[in-house]
Amino acid sequence: MIDASEKPFVLIEGDVIPAFIKYCSDQNYKKFLMIADNRTYQALGKRVEDALLAVGFNLRKALLSGSEEIIADEEHIIQVMNQMDAEERVFLAVGSGTITDITRFLAHRTRSTFISLPTAPSVDGFVSVGAPLVFRGLKETADCKAPAAAFADLSTLAAAPKLMIAAGFGDLLGKYTSLADWKLGHILWDERYDAHVEASFRAALNKCVSSYAHLAEGDPKSMYALIDGLIGSGMGIIEYGNTQPASGAEHHISHHWEMKLLWQHRPGLLHGAKVGVGTIITAAYYEKIKKLTLNDVNNLLNETIINPEEEKQAIRNVYPSISDRLIDLQSPFINMDQNRLEALKERILTNWDTVLEIAASVPPSAELRDMLAAVGGPTTPAMLGFSDAEAREAILYSNNLRRRFTSLKLCHFLNIL
Ligand SMILES: [Zn+2]
Repeated sequence: MIDASEKPFVLIEGDVIPAFIKYCSDQNYKKFLMIADNRTYQALGKRVEDALLAVGFNLRKALLSGSEEIIADEEHIIQVMNQMDAEERVFLAVGSGTITDITRFLAHRTRSTFISLPTAPSVDGFVSVGAPLVFRGLKETADCKAPAAAFADLSTLAAAPKLMIAAGFGDLLGKYTSLADWKLGHILWDERYDAHVEASFRAALNKCVSSYAHLAEGDPKSMYALIDGLIGSGMGIIEYGNTQPASGAEHHISHHWEMKLLWQHRPGLLHGAKVGVGTIITAAYYEKIKKLTLNDVNNLLNETIINPEEEKQAIRNVYPSISDRLIDLQSPFINMDQNRLEALKERILTNWDTVLEIAASVPPSAELRDMLAAVGGPTTPAMLGFSDAEAREAILYSNNLRRRFTSLKLCHFLNIL
């Protein structure tokens, strides 16, 4: 659990720099390390630098360079460390998700304060506590901390690449399915649930969805709603203590593709772009769930058997380098004895009305697809560069990536994936 007092100070403004400088003065922050790449330095870093130097503050820069794609991996972490000095400094993450994750990790491990200055509204992770990092080719989330503050400059965000804006919208749309999956896990698998946290996620989501139509044109009001929603989602994660409300089957599909690309040495894709497509897919499964009567479910569950060896072999085939870890993670589902399985079936049947209510909270897949398309985001696996077989594999097996009872896990038990 994370102490809610760790919630960052957040400000979103047309020109946020004056307030940022005032905040630093008030906090008595005087020495800084800016972490950026050439593009984000041009987009926002230069203005931040000029403003800090104008008031006489001390600034050191660690500009990431080299490969075209910045990954939060050993190479880039060492690149930043190589440009650090021995002074105590406040770290400034000037960039999108990856630069923020590199900064979050280094700030935490060096016991430094860090401030997030996003350059694109591309993810909900700016104020998050975990940093997804790639070590020796494997992606894992390192426990870190939230920034002390986040300053979102609307003029910078509006000028961000359209695909990054669409990715942020995709990450936020994913809350429709992640919130539904979270409640499903609560009803069917005793996952911890918090109505207050759900309400704050819904508020952020609704605000953004009500004004997304002008997002593609860089409309300031829509941009405000998007970044406010993304930061609000990050705050919800801090409040709840982990990512569960914000990360369901749509994120597991995204994690699956992300790892596959990494293992196959193919170029990465924006997190929110994958999550957007994962959301459309997951919503389609909620539609399948909506159509099932209690009688249908009863008939399907009568056929449900769990073959532990088959399940383990599938995990070994699909995720060879991490299969031991995943088999261990999935053991409550894979190694269910007959009594436990019967109890689960009973529970699904008894709560089917509630499952249908939860499914009704997810908009139809086609509606989500149209919303994402209106903002210019990819809407199909093919648009992300994945074959039908790669899409199918993600649908069938990504429910093994986390120990959570999601919609796709339910569909796995019902054998309707
Ligand atoms: Zn996300």
